[in-house]
Amino acid sequence: MKNKSIYDEIFDKACSVCGKIIKKDIYDQGNCPFCKWKNNFLADKNPNRVIYPNLISLNEAKQLYGQGKPFEPDLDDFVEALFFYSEVQFKYNNMFYEVILASENNEDIIKMNDFNGGNLQTFKTKEDFKNNAKVEGKFLKDIWNDTTDRYWLQ
Ligand SMILES: [Zn+2]
Repeated sequence: MKNKSIYDEIFDKACSVCGKIIKKDIYDQGNCPFCKWKNNFLADKNPNRVIYPNLISLNEAKQLYGQGKPFEPDLDDFVEALFFYSEVQFKYNNMFYEVILASENNEDIIKMNDFNGGNLQTFKTKEDFKNNAKVEGKFLKDIWNDTTDRYWLQ
């Protein structure tokens, strides 16, 4: 190929989480087929932060991998992901909910509602959201382990 550049090249490198050899590009991006970590250099540089496209930090992924657990975000990780990307979602009892950062009267707020537009709730701070968000009358923090499909808003 004539115009092949360094940016198209793929290298054999160790996955940042499980250490197995995988394919990474020049930005150290590459999905690990073994542990499912989405490798990227931003996470490598900021191992304690939740950074797209993963919903947990690199160090937490290493810890979960060591315990044989899946890379699922707890409520704190989920809120960190929200502040990284502004839009996240989860599912509970067959209903999807979206959580978004919004602005109201020049103040940042957190809005949560179901995908039908119902159950709208607003929160002034992260802590307000973590402590007071409710789904079907139950505190989200209490039913978090029963939610699924936690992800960037699709
Ligand atoms: Zn891996």
